[in-house]
Amino acid sequence: MIIAVASGKGGTGKTTVTSSLAWVWGRKVTAVDLDVEEPNLHLFLKPEILGREVATIEVPVADESKCTYCRACADLCQFKAISVLGSVLLTFPEMCHGCGGCIAVCPEKALSSGTRELGEILWGRAAGRIGFFMGRLRVGEAMSPPLMRAVMAKLAGLTERHVTDIIIDAPPGTSCPAINAVLPSDAILLVTEPTPFGDHDFRLAHQAFRPLAKPMAVVINRAGLGDRTVYDYCRSESLPILAEIPFDRRLAEAYSRGRVLADALPDMRRVFAELAAGIESWVAAETAREVTADA
Ligand code: SF4
Ligand code: SF4
Repeated sequence: MIIAVASGKGGTGKTTVTSSLAWVWGRKVTAVDLDVEEPNLHLFLKPEILGREVATIEVPVADESKCTYCRACADLCQFKAISVLGSVLLTFPEMCHGCGGCIAVCPEKALSSGTRELGEILWGRAAGRIGFFMGRLRVGEAMSPPLMRAVMAKLAGLTERHVTDIIIDAPPGTSCPAINAVLPSDAILLVTEPTPFGDHDFRLAHQAFRPLAKPMAVVINRAGLGDRTVYDYCRSESLPILAEIPFDRRLAEAYSRGRVLADALPDMRRVFAELAAGIESWVAAETAREVTADA
């Protein structure tokens, strides 16, 4: 089972939920920080890092002496990362998405494969039992989805002989990185808070993820703050609320010390254990519903 923990805006408590869920998860689990621009899950889980590697993307390198300026590469590239201006061939490696198409279509073999560094992938183990993966984007690198895919590919390679549930800490928002982070998941857990900003961005996230047709459920953080608008929206959209985390100074203090809430506070351990059990039964019910609908 792969669960993506997502939110419409930053600061709603995704990492709080991810770290505590992984802490109480009843089966073998790997926590993955795909918020590669600002990873912070490691600050809470404090994993022992067992490996790291540089992630790269394939970019074209031109040998202009072979180029006939036929434009086949430029016409193919959807990202304007390679261009022909008269008798000048220009490449823009920072805009390249690494599809390799231009290299494949060049009739003169004037393009070969080079690399651009995306960042690094780190993996390890937290609390002796929680698998841990994260990506960290290189400073100055503009595109995070290729690194996110590299993290998931590395995870798949290392865990293919060891079945593990996966909990993804997704980047906030509704743009390309957020969509990429939830794509590999079986279900999406949306974290929000009952404030006007929380409600606004939560609706955007729900609407952005809805076309993916994945089951979505909600965790309300800082419950007791704000008003009931988020609850009303969940009811109107038939979104199950699987847990409420209270607006409580003790939680803020534990968070500020880099503690996993389910470890620091016994009542929070109960809340997250119930959330983990709730996710299990919710995903099972959603799966059964899909099977029935397909039959
Ligand atoms: S590899 Fe793909 S994205 Fe990059 S320049 Fe070539 S066609 Fe464009
Ligand atoms: S496809 Fe090859 S030969 Fe044609 S413009 Fe591009 S690099 Fe030059």
